[in-house]
Amino acid sequence: MTANNMDELVALAKRRGFIFQSSDIYGGLQGVYDYGPLGVELKNNLKSAWWRAMVYDRDDVEGLDAAILTNPTTLRYSGHEATFTDPLVDCRECKSRWRADHLESDQCPSCGSNDLTEPRPFNLMFKTAVGPVDDGSSFAYLRPETAQAIFTNFKNILDSTSPKLPFGIAQIGKAFRNEITPRNFIFRVREFEQMELEFFVKPGEDENWHDHWVNERLSWWAAQGVNENNLELYHVPADELAHYSKSTVDLMYRFPHGLEELEGIANRTDYDLGSHTKNQGDYNIQSEVQPNTEANAKLAIQDLETKEWQVPYVIEPSAGVDRGVLAVMNEAYTVERLEDGKERTVMSFRPHLAPIKVAILPLKRNHEGIVAKAKDIKKTLQKLGLGRILYEDTGNIGKGYRRHDEVGTPLCVTVDFQTVEEDDTVTIRNRDTMAQERVHTNDLSAYVSEYMS
Ligand code: ATP
Repeated sequence: MTANNMDELVALAKRRGFIFQSSDIYGGLQGVYDYGPLGVELKNNLKSAWWRAMVYDRDDVEGLDAAILTNPTTLRYSGHEATFTDPLVDCRECKSRWRADHLESDQCPSCGSNDLTEPRPFNLMFKTAVGPVDDGSSFAYLRPETAQAIFTNFKNILDSTSPKLPFGIAQIGKAFRNEITPRNFIFRVREFEQMELEFFVKPGEDENWHDHWVNERLSWWAAQGVNENNLELYHVPADELAHYSKSTVDLMYRFPHGLEELEGIANRTDYDLGSHTKNQGDYNIQSEVQPNTEANAKLAIQDLETKEWQVPYVIEPSAGVDRGVLAVMNEAYTVERLEDGKERTVMSFRPHLAPIKVAILPLKRNHEGIVAKAKDIKKTLQKLGLGRILYEDTGNIGKGYRRHDEVGTPLCVTVDFQTVEEDDTVTIRNRDTMAQERVHTNDLSAYVSEYMS
C-alpha cells in the first residue's frame, strides 16, 4: 500500500517527528526542511544502505566527502555558470514567479492572469561571500551537485589509490539549488542531499556500463522496499538532456503527486574531466569541451597497453536522498482495517531502514526487577550495532505497540513478571503480523540479528 495523498505523509511526518518545516517558529523558509528524531534515523539508514551497496560491497569504488563551498572556476568549466538555468516567467499582475516548463497553460496559476513575461534563464546556483569583505569580488558557490568535487579530486584519488578502469568514486552530501518553485514537500527543495557515484570507464564501454547501472539501481530501490510497479524508466530525449550528457535514463517513481524523477543515470562522457583538464589537446578527449587555460591538472589515466593518456568516460547514477526518503515513506505507509473494525496505520519499512529497530517496553515502570531487566536487554541489543534500540517506559503496552506501528519499529520486546519471576523469556511482538511469541533472553540477540539481516 502507499499513502492516498501527500497530506497524509506530511501529517504523519510532523506528528511523529520525521520531518518539519525549517525555521517553523518564524513562518518557515520556503523549500527548506529539517529532519526530526525519526527522520534523521531513516535518512541515515537510507544513506548507509546506499554506501554499503556502492562502496563496501564492491572493490572498485572509493568514497569521498568534499566541501560544499566551491571555487567559481570549477563551476565555470563544468558549464554550470552558463547553462544551469531554468526558464523563469513573472506574472505582471500578481508578481508571482513560475518555471515556464511547469506551467500547464499560459495563465498564471496563482491569479489566472494572461499577463506573463517571456521566459528568461534563471541560474539556480546559490552564491555566498567568502572572507570579510562583501563587495562581490570574492565569492563561492554552494555546490549545485556533489559530482564536481569528484571530478576535481580525480587526480588526488588516482594518485592515492592507484585504481584501474573501470572504477568509481562515491559521495553523499548536500547540494543547493535556488529552485523557482519549490513544492511537493521534500520532493523539490532548495537544500537537499544527493548520493552520487561517478563510475569511470573506457570510452566505447560506456553504453554497456550505462545499461548495467540502470539495472543495478532498479534492484537497489526494490531492496529498499520500493515496489517495481511504481518505478518507470524515462529515456530523456536529446533536446532535454543536460549540457554534459550523451544519454540519460531517469528512474521515475509514482510519488503521491505524480510520476516524477527519483534518480537520474547519465552518461556524462569525458565532458567534465575533459573540461577540467589543462592542455586538452595532449589527451584523448572525445567530447567537445571548452578550451581550458586555468586548470592545473591532467585528469586522465594511462592505458597500460597503449601507453596513451586517456580521459575516461563516466556513468553517473545520481539519486536524491530526500526524494528517496519520500519514496520509502510512501511505500511504507499502510492503513489496515483490523478484525475489531478499528484501523491501524503501519509504516512497514524494511527492517534495515526502520528508524527504531527494537523498542523495549517494561510492563511496569516502577517494578525494579522488570525495569532493570529491560534496561539490561536494551544494552545487550544495542551492542549488536544495528541502529537505535529504544527503552520506553510509558507503561501502556497496547498504546506502545500502536505508536511503534506508526513509526515503523519492526519488533517490540515486552518484559513482564514472567520474565523476572519465572523463566527469563520476553514477548516479541511483530509489527507486520502483530503476532507475539515468547523468546528466551539468551536467544534474543540471535533472533533480532536474524530478523534485521
Ligand atoms: P528535476 O528535473 O526534477 O529538477 P534534475 O534532473 O535537475 O531534477 P539532477 O540534476 O539529475 O536532477 O539531480 C540528480 C538527483 O538529485 C535527482 O534525481 C533528484 O533526486 C535530486 N534532486 C535534484 N534537484 C532536487 C531538488 N530541488 N530537491 C530535491 N532533490 C533534488
